[in-house]
Amino acid sequence: MTQGNRQARRAWAAARKKHMKRGHLYHVEFQHDPDCAIYTRERLCTCNPHRVLKDEAGRVLARVEGAGFYDPTELMEVTP
Ligand SMILES: [Zn+2]
Repeated sequence: MTQGNRQARRAWAAARKKHMKRGHLYHVEFQHDPDCAIYTRERLCTCNPHRVLKDEAGRVLARVEGAGFYDPTELMEVTP
């Protein structure tokens, strides 16, 4: 993992911490490359997806690029 990766991951964690509050609904989108292996049977991300955090109304609260592979556990890191 590169330094840029770490910074982007930190930015993503900070954005979620800042915007995600208890009792509100959010949408988190992972925008994968069309050729990412997440779309295969293995469902393992091999690209560098854009992470987008949206509120209930679909407004974009944060967008982070370059945070590396999608990891299904990463949404469990945040404790509000
Ligand atoms: Zn992917």
